[in-house]
Parts: sequence; structure tokens; C-alpha cells
Amino acid sequence: MKAYEKGLVATAGLIAHGRGEAFDYLLGERTLPFAWRAERVAVALLLKAERKVISVNGNAAALCAEELVELGRLTGAQLEVNLFYRSEEREVTIARELKRSGASEVLGVGAATSARIPELVSARAKVDPRGIAGAEVVLVPLEDGDRTAFLKRIGKIVLAIDLNPFSRTAQTASVTIVDNIVRAVPNMVKEARLLRQSPEKLDRIILNYDNRETLREAIGFINARLLQIARENLQTFPKRV
Ligand code: ATP
Repeated sequence: MKAYEKGLVATAGLIAHGRGEAFDYLLGERTLPFAWRAERVAVALLLKAERKVISVNGNAAALCAEELVELGRLTGAQLEVNLFYRSEEREVTIARELKRSGASEVLGVGAATSARIPELVSARAKVDPRGIAGAEVVLVPLEDGDRTAFLKRIGKIVLAIDLNPFSRTAQTASVTIVDNIVRAVPNMVKEARLLRQSPEKLDRIILNYDNRETLREAIGFINARLLQIARENLQTFPKRV
């Protein structure tokens, strides 16, 4: 709510946050093995790529600006403000938050966003020619499905953090991290510190990864959890008279 009042988060961002919390409840508010695997491979891909960008929207900046900056520093990824509901004011507010958290450079602000994701209409299509436009790998925490699909279509490796494994973003990303951003990014920071010391491990981690398996496990976990909740409720309901 504070981040909303500060102008970091848009109204729709608050609603998206609530949607995330519902899924986090089903996941038991913890990092599950399929999420941890995806976090690890995402870090490996960031470390391997020459040009990599962490796309930052209002929710991401509000929830873990410092950790995103640290992940950028450890992997050599640039930070780019990327907003669904773009306004120069919010761009500047988010960039300021990232700089306050230690970022030396933040892309995607004002006139810098002169490149466009082809086929996407409106301000959502704007990207920075020095950042996402030319990147091989893009980390998109809490992204909208249209943009994820288009980034994939123009050849990017898209790493998504999304608590909802059914969302279009989760379903189309190259790597889907089904975890809360407040756990995922700190986990990725830890992993980046370790993997930076062992670059010989990166190829094997990347080659052994299958995102369909991650989605299958995440959806399977949620289905099982819903069944368990339903059974528990049936047992505690009073019998009909
Ligand atoms: P899509 O367009 O991909 O089908 P959507 O319409 O829900 O999904 P958005 O509202 O733009 O798209 O995306 C927000 C996504 O971020 C949602 O899937 C939501 O579950 C997820 N989300 C919200 N809060 C968090 C969080 N703290 N950590 C990780 N994911 C989150």
C-alpha cells in the first residue's frame, strides 16, 4: 500500500499482487524444488549471456529493489524499467527507487525507450534500444502474457517469475520460476554468488533443464493441494440432517 501511495505501483499492480498471494497460499509460501531448479537455471542463463536485462516494473521495484540491483551486479545484467501502464512519472519514480537501492544505471526511462517490440501496440511495446531490444536473455518478474509472448517471438530467452503457473507468461516463458519474487530473487542472488565461482557447471545446468517438467510439477502440486483442502473441509463439515 505504501508503494502504491508513493506512485511506484499502479492500481492494476495491487490487483495482480492479490492474485499472486492466492497462488502463494496454495504453494505453502515456500520455495518448492521445481522453483529452485528454475531459479538456478535462470541464473546460469544470465551468467552465460553476453547481453542480458532485468526488466523492472512497479511491483518488482516495490518488493525487492535492492535484491534486483544485486542480481544485476552479480550477473552483469542491466536494469530496465518496463511498465504496462507507462507514464514518465512512474518511470522516474521506479528508476529513483533502483538508484536508491544501489543501481548505477537504469535503462528504459523517458526518450530512451525509442525501440518497440514489433506487433505490440501502445506504450507497452516501448523498450530501450540499449537494453531489452538487443538482449539475448530477459528476466521478467510479474510480466503480462502478451509481452512475454512477443519477447519470445522475437527470439529472446525469457525468464519469468510468476506465482501462477497457469498464466500466459508462465506458459510461454523459456524458464518459469513459480515462486514469490520476494523469495525468488534472494535465492537467485545466492545462486549467482555460487555459480560465478563455477562457470564450468553452467552448460550442464542449462542442458539438463526442461521447463515443461517445471510447469507439470507446479500444476501437479497445486492440484494435489486443492484436493487436500477439499478433503479436509469435507471431513470437518457438519453432516446434513
Ligand atoms: P498473463 O497475462 O500472463 O496471463 P495476468 O493477466 O495475471 O497473467 P499480470 O496481472 O500482468 O498478468 O501478471 C501478474 C502475474 O504476477 C500474475 O500471474 C500473478 O500471479 C503474479 N504475481 C503477483 N505477485 C507476485 C509475486 N509477489 N511474486 C511472483 N509472482 C507474482
